Amino acid sequence: MKVLVTVKRVIDYNVKVRVKPDQSDVDLANVKMAMNPFCEIAVEAAVRLKEAGLASEIVAVSVGPAACQEQLRTALALGADRGIQIDSGEAPDPLGVAKLLAAVVAAEKPDLVILGKQSIDGDNNQTGQMLAALLDWPQATFASALALEAGRLRVTREIDGGLQSLELNLPAIVTTDLRLNEPRYASLPNIMKAKKKPLEVKSPVELGVTLKAHTRLLKVEAPAERQGGIKVGSVSELVEKLKSEAKVI
Ligand code: AMP
Repeated sequence: MKVLVTVKRVIDYNVKVRVKPDQSDVDLANVKMAMNPFCEIAVEAAVRLKEAGLASEIVAVSVGPAACQEQLRTALALGADRGIQIDSGEAPDPLGVAKLLAAVVAAEKPDLVILGKQSIDGDNNQTGQMLAALLDWPQATFASALALEAGRLRVTREIDGGLQSLELNLPAIVTTDLRLNEPRYASLPNIMKAKKKPLEVKSPVELGVTLKAHTRLLKVEAPAERQGGIKVGSVSELVEKLKSEAKVI
């Protein structure tokens, strides 16, 4: 079974995000970038399938500028066999990414595509669903458990008040939730070995995709600064303030 796994380059989740002074976007100058955490979980899921003898090849794909190769090398160090960077310049919106991924799927013919459920920069939660629609493949989003049984995929999803179990025919799309697994760290020897693994660069034109902007970013605003707290003298003063100032009771 061939598994395609998607890897997005985003601001490292530990970084406190700054907004540009003109509010045109988030300031990426000198900011540490990393693999989107849900993509790390997707890579780990693919590697576990390979370790279990269920997957034969893992292809990692990233859409964006050449800098994405850094995250692809990380995926290769974690256990992916090959990388593909789709050189789109700045990453397009989810529909553009989904169209590019659909073209890679047409060429690579994987049995399973594993994506993160969400990118932590745009919080879109759209790419996996759009890819499934474009390919007309079954999808299981927000997977918290994944198993292959008799050539079919069993996926558990956490839903309000319980768990939902799905069975899917392959080929299929899965998007990962936080509890699916705990991603490993890449070891130094594997980081070194990853430098020699194949990494191909493809352009949208080569894939036959014309990118079109479907949305326009108008403005980014930082959240309001948190106000300092105060100490109240008594429970009755607290209740009074909750009523008159916070208006929560
Ligand atoms: P989103 O729909 O933007 O929230 O992204 C959901 C998932 O789609 C991410 O976790 C990635 O696995 C994948 N994805 C989105 N954008 C890209 C990209 N530019 N390159 C590779 N994968 C992507």
